Amino acid sequence: MMDNSNLSARDLAVIWHPYTQMQTAPAPVALLRGEGALLFDEANNSYIDATSSWWVNIHGHAHPYIAEQLALQARQLQHCIFAGYTHPPAVNLAERLLKILPGPQSRVFYSDNGSTAVEVALKMALQYWHNQDIKKRKILAFHHAYHGDTFGAMSVSGRSVFTRAFDDFLFEVHFIDLPTASNITSLKSQIAAWQPEEIAAFIFEPLIQGSAGMLMYEAAAFEELLQYCQSQNILLIADEVMTGFGRTGKNFAMQYTSVAPDIICLSKGLTGGNMALGVTTCTAAIYNAFLSDNKLKTLFHGHSFTANPLACAVALASLDLFLEPACAANRQRIHVQHRQFADRLNTLPVIKNTRVLGTILAFDIITAGEDGYTNQLADYLHRFFRERRIMLRPLGNTLYILPPYCITNEQLTQVYESIIACAEELMH
Ligand SMILES: *Cc1c(COP(=O)(O)O)cnc(C)c1O
Repeated sequence: MMDNSNLSARDLAVIWHPYTQMQTAPAPVALLRGEGALLFDEANNSYIDATSSWWVNIHGHAHPYIAEQLALQARQLQHCIFAGYTHPPAVNLAERLLKILPGPQSRVFYSDNGSTAVEVALKMALQYWHNQDIKKRKILAFHHAYHGDTFGAMSVSGRSVFTRAFDDFLFEVHFIDLPTASNITSLKSQIAAWQPEEIAAFIFEPLIQGSAGMLMYEAAAFEELLQYCQSQNILLIADEVMTGFGRTGKNFAMQYTSVAPDIICLSKGLTGGNMALGVTTCTAAIYNAFLSDNKLKTLFHGHSFTANPLACAVALASLDLFLEPACAANRQRIHVQHRQFADRLNTLPVIKNTRVLGTILAFDIITAGEDGYTNQLADYLHRFFRERRIMLRPLGNTLYILPPYCITNEQLTQVYESIIACAEELMH
């Protein structure tokens, strides 16, 4: 039997946590089980998972159907090499994903997480031109973008406190502002001045920049920007790692535009937040540029756990639940609740920039400090919600709710009321 006693203290002696200043962080809460939108600690207290366990969970925790499918697969085939061999979950998942993705996507490349899905996308785009002897080597991205923590993904992300120690080691990228009706003409001339014939690809988080602070932007100007890039032969890489699988309301955020991307990155919601899996998909045109008698045109990339059968089986189970009408209805229900709560938030003088997109609600708290990730208010907010057993994790002075789609209206109300209580405390 596993020893589950005294976990927080034992953790502090042996573990280094992500995105955590270990010297000042409070001891972690040990969670022993989950059910729906709730997680339970050692004393059986329940916590509401209001941010989907880092944006990954869509159907709730320890879902019985997903657990069942995982167990079935584990008894059949748990893993095998994916070069020269294949298996049912990988093929079935690829077929089903290609049917629902925006635009004509033709091939699925498997990896382990969002960062690796982005690495693969960058390699596909750069080598697509390389294989054709076309000198297109520059990359375009948005300021403040977040595409992951590996070096390639960091390079195409905005330079920030996250990248400070590594900035000298990152490759150069051209960054542009988020598009609006008023800056779109200027964005196009900026790109024109960078010699677009040398730009290989544009990578972006469609309609909402997550880590930057849930920054939302308009589909119309975005669409115009994408069309301009297409006219300049710049490949479009849609990083739907956070937005995929219904998070923004539609199945994929690109469906808010009429533009078909060349490459799509998926992870987070792909397995419903149950196992690590990443996917990079591409059009037939991209794929065909790698077909050759010349071995040098091969995409030389792969991971030990590429297309892990357990992860693929779990993704298939999650997809079954995702495509049920009840899932879309839940997302719509959350959206309506968020809209009503946004009206309430707008009446509070300490809150600004309330915004809603699909199942995501975000707002900024007005403080003396500068807006952004390092704002001092974050520690206070963290503590406030943790004491109330609501799992909300601020991005600086930005707070957001991004719940599993199965969250109940009662649970949502508890989250909303805790935010109102927090705002009231800040006003005193
Ligand atoms: C989280 C995220 C990533 C990185 O995914 P990991 O699985 O954490 O490596 C990449 N892009 C976007 C848009 C993300 O939100």
